[in-house]
Amino acid sequence: MAKKVFIGVGHGGRDSGATGNGFKEKDLNLSIALACRDELVKNGVSVLMSRTKDENDPLTDEIKECNNFNPDLALDIHNNSGGGDGAEVFHYSKGGTSKILAQNILNEIVKIGQNSRGLKIKKNIFGKDYFGFIREIKAPSVIVEGAFIDNVKDIEIINTAEKQKKMGTAIAYGILKTLEPNVKNNTSVISNHPQNNTKTNNLNTTVNKKKISVKYQVWDDVLNCWLPNVTDKTDYAGIFKHDVCAVFASLSEGNIWYKAHIKGGVWLPEVKNRIDFAGVYNKPIDGLMIKTDTGKTVCYRVHLRRKKKWLSWVTGYNANDGNNGYAGFLGQEIEAI
Ligand SMILES: [Zn+2]
Repeated sequence: MAKKVFIGVGHGGRDSGATGNGFKEKDLNLSIALACRDELVKNGVSVLMSRTKDENDPLTDEIKECNNFNPDLALDIHNNSGGGDGAEVFHYSKGGTSKILAQNILNEIVKIGQNSRGLKIKKNIFGKDYFGFIREIKAPSVIVEGAFIDNVKDIEIINTAEKQKKMGTAIAYGILKTLEPNVKNNTSVISNHPQNNTKTNNLNTTVNKKKISVKYQVWDDVLNCWLPNVTDKTDYAGIFKHDVCAVFASLSEGNIWYKAHIKGGVWLPEVKNRIDFAGVYNKPIDGLMIKTDTGKTVCYRVHLRRKKKWLSWVTGYNANDGNNGYAGFLGQEIEAI
């Protein structure tokens, strides 16, 4: 049977929600929600939205509609204001599927270049969940706050119809991942959120000769976000004195596989293309290996944070070959690739 998802669309009609930079939250919420619905429907999910146009839509009605629909998952789409930057997702204070949903959605939002403010809970004076949408809805539910409308930089992640669609689609990927943990959803990335990267050109991962390029980006533990994509040798990915915690890569043609080693930990499972990323947020990596099925060699190297130097180029894919099997030096944080 088809899975069911309820999408609450925050505010509407007389209630504009937050405003700023020429936007009304109710409009952004709707545009994002429609894109989210479209992606879910494309994947065979049955969706009910609290509204599909600009009309009054009180929270009490949303909650009633949702519980009558009896969905597998529910979310309420909002955007933020009040001075801040990035996305946050509220979940049920006792965790469970609501928290998993929140994390999956946040992960996907980060992949489109938005900063993360993390997962959130909020309780009332009775120790219950503060938000009615989370407290009163029977299905696992979350509230997504995509961006700060009143922040002139943060609004850039959703300030066009196309970007709103990307946000909605990202949210849908997080939902799909929660509904079907084994079905990996392709996330086609990436809009560059404004970052202040001051970097000089340097070498990095590349594929020899034939015009196949590698596009990749890394997760930065200090900025707590994905840095912009880098292609081949045009630049390196990473900011010196920051740790790389995860890598996300694809080829212009063919498939790329890669694995990351967590510092003080293990080699993580192999990742293919952008089906997933290699790494764990906020855990530095100290090893990386890459291969492709294009018949071409991938040359790659990493910059060590403490040694302050680039290691030699490598081409292998073998955890047991410390010379050429992977790039990195176990125990030493990687700060650029
Ligand atoms: Zn709102």
